[in-house]
Amino acid sequence: MFEKHLKKLDDQHLLRRLRTIASATGPTVTLDGREIILLSSNNYLGLATHPTVVDAAIEATRRYGAGSGAARLVCGTLTPHETLESTLARFKGTEATLTFAAGYLTNISVIPALIAKDGLIFADRLCHASLIDGCRLSGATFRVYHHRDMNHLEQLLARRPAGRPTLIVTDGLFSMDGDIAPMKDLVLLAERYGAEIYVDDAHGTGILGRTGRGTLEHCEVESRVPYHMGTLSKAIGSAGGYVTGSATFIAYLLNTCRAFIYTTAPPPASAAAATAAIQVIEQEPQRRARLWRNRERLAQGLTELGFRLAASESPILPVIVGDPDRAMNLAQALLAQGVYAPAIRPPTVPPATSRIRFTITADHTDEQIDRALIAVEQAGRSLNLI
Ligand SMILES: *Cc1c(COP(=O)(O)O)cnc(C)c1O
Repeated sequence: MFEKHLKKLDDQHLLRRLRTIASATGPTVTLDGREIILLSSNNYLGLATHPTVVDAAIEATRRYGAGSGAARLVCGTLTPHETLESTLARFKGTEATLTFAAGYLTNISVIPALIAKDGLIFADRLCHASLIDGCRLSGATFRVYHHRDMNHLEQLLARRPAGRPTLIVTDGLFSMDGDIAPMKDLVLLAERYGAEIYVDDAHGTGILGRTGRGTLEHCEVESRVPYHMGTLSKAIGSAGGYVTGSATFIAYLLNTCRAFIYTTAPPPASAAAATAAIQVIEQEPQRRARLWRNRERLAQGLTELGFRLAASESPILPVIVGDPDRAMNLAQALLAQGVYAPAIRPPTVPPATSRIRFTITADHTDEQIDRALIAVEQAGRSLNLI
């Protein structure tokens, strides 16, 4: 049965395999002994390998050990976790925060803490899988609205049965398309129809907004959105998820979220690394500037080559090619030319929108970007895509 399932996936060009990288996920990586330009990590600001961040992780491991010993409510919370939460709260300008071992765990436990069977959820069609799973786990009635389509969302809100608690769920910066949720309009609709909003800012955190606080800062709605979640695993360069909000809200989550209560605290190293990374984000705004400059260079290069780019507003630059086999072939040709940017296929993205999802980081040099563009051109030509 397992074999049959795998064969079917393979026949549909949907089989997934792991590739081992024998180096840090910097702008280049070592893959099968070759140096390859990496254009697919979410390490947008290069903080996963920043010396200050790495040193903080080493120092915390020396002092507190490799593991945390137990869940945080069981054997006490280690200082690095508490420092991370107060640093995040200060950075986000919120009363309190709670961190989780992963962004995925955050979504599947916080959404069920916000809404139950008697509730209604309206989610953007391109929401991240962890949001969808969280919505399903809540037991609430769950509907999707067309991607970023506020007219559709308003219709659903207007027609809903009276008296049901309602939650609108969206990514801040969409992970597979690189576009941004219309937060101002979402907030207006939520206010007009008495709904709450749950925003997942995994990708916006650290890179969007004047000071890097994320999508809500970028869209100027921070004061109108009382809580949101994000991850420590993308621009922040470590691992984990977080929720911001009032002290009461956070205390409620601490007492409710099963994926917080019943799982071992993340390693002290990852908490200390995340704290150091937030400090670097505050102290080195030039990294964000460099990221956006690099994003422009790559986006312009891809457009000039004649590729069809999704309507991205971010360092996520998807080139849509359609069928999964075409995306697979392009990814393979890219790798042969020394660029690693894997094909993203269903079910991660809707059918017929298989793509290469390029992402760029602040650490890529102009020379690396130009070299990558030559490789992309050769790969595209060899498959008659451009
Ligand atoms: C990556 C991601 C997550 C999951 O976060 P992890 O920390 O990797 O578990 C959740 N939501 C979105 C939008 C993401 O891109």
